[in-house]
Amino acid sequence: MLCFINVEKIVKKCITEKKLKMNLSRNFSLQELIKSDTAVRKGIDNNPNADQIEKLKLLCENILQPVRDHFGRVKVTSGYRSVELCMAIGSSANSQHAKAEAADFECMGTDNAELADWIKNNLDYDQLILEYYTPGEPNSGWIHCSYIPEGRRASFLHAFRQDGKTKYKPILGKAKDLV
Ligand SMILES: [Zn+2]
Repeated sequence: MLCFINVEKIVKKCITEKKLKMNLSRNFSLQELIKSDTAVRKGIDNNPNADQIEKLKLLCENILQPVRDHFGRVKVTSGYRSVELCMAIGSSANSQHAKAEAADFECMGTDNAELADWIKNNLDYDQLILEYYTPGEPNSGWIHCSYIPEGRRASFLHAFRQDGKTKYKPILGKAKDLV
């Protein structure tokens, strides 16, 4: 009996490891889109279900892969976040990260405003946020971008802190022209 349980455990572990290495698009693995130091440290389950994996695939195919093809290596700092993980890091459980529809990322050596403008002009996104970007500091902040199969809002925002609060303002022209 004990032996049987162990075999089952090993098989389960192998399946999980294989699944993590699974590619969602040419250059993005499932592992990259779900990894979280906080989840590991706090023992939080951050595994998406089959439907959520399908959504992550769409996010990679429509947003991350085209960015990778144009700018080179993309550093994904946060992709899918389970509700439990959202609570642990003080992020909203209603966030598109929890629905497997959004990722935060940067491209090494590329100004985040330039990256935001390129996505705006070339990709069909749901919401694109230039997060905590300080004009004149190319490395400041990061990009948050979401994708949904239907009803995309094409909302383009700048998130910044003011009086200790996060504020969102639509970017009407170019992110590069923000002052
Ligand atoms: Zn985000």
